[in-house]
Amino acid sequence: MQDTKLIPLSALQHFAFCPRQCALIHNEQVWAENFLTAQGQQLHSRVDSGEPETRKGVRFERGVQVAAHSLGLIGKMDLLEKDTSTGQLTPVEYKRGRPKPTDLDEIQLCAQALCLEEMTGQTVKEGALWYHQTRHRHPVQISDRLRQRTMEVITAVAQLFASGQTPPAKYEKKCDACSLFDLCNPKVLQKDSSRRYIEQLFAEELPDEKAPE
Ligand code: SF4
Repeated sequence: MQDTKLIPLSALQHFAFCPRQCALIHNEQVWAENFLTAQGQQLHSRVDSGEPETRKGVRFERGVQVAAHSLGLIGKMDLLEKDTSTGQLTPVEYKRGRPKPTDLDEIQLCAQALCLEEMTGQTVKEGALWYHQTRHRHPVQISDRLRQRTMEVITAVAQLFASGQTPPAKYEKKCDACSLFDLCNPKVLQKDSSRRYIEQLFAEELPDEKAPE
């Protein structure tokens, strides 16, 4: 029987940002650490190193390993909060920047909630995202809609992993913020712009060149 590759929680966010980025990192193990990712890792290592504590009726556990075997998910949560009177669990994810116009962060948080639900049998109703740049905590409802969107991404990532393929490069505005930009090289590798790039090189040179005598 063929082993099914487990899906790291981070892969969901990579896929939702760009399927090619997800494949480069998780199928091809390519990784480029740029300023943004290094800063993100620094933040997470600070969060992970905190000791467990209880304050105002809430227990805080940091760097909690989670998994949902039925979904093939595995990963680590930044922070898990437990209400000591109700037992309600709340996953909290720390992010380097500010809230994004997309649902990337919410998907990763929802996947954590799905792991917790499978591990504990408890329904997780709410999580939270904490943004370092704005120093603000945003509550996130683990709604049916978010669950459905997260399941779609989990299914798509599982298919990407099973295929072992890497989608072709295609330059979009988001590429400028991608930590794999130099390795992916979308402006050159996407077929049309690659041809245009070469044509432009020669188009610019030709007027100055003299024909050989
Ligand atoms: S540079 Fe663009 S196409 Fe390449 S992996 Fe990043 S986002 Fe995807």
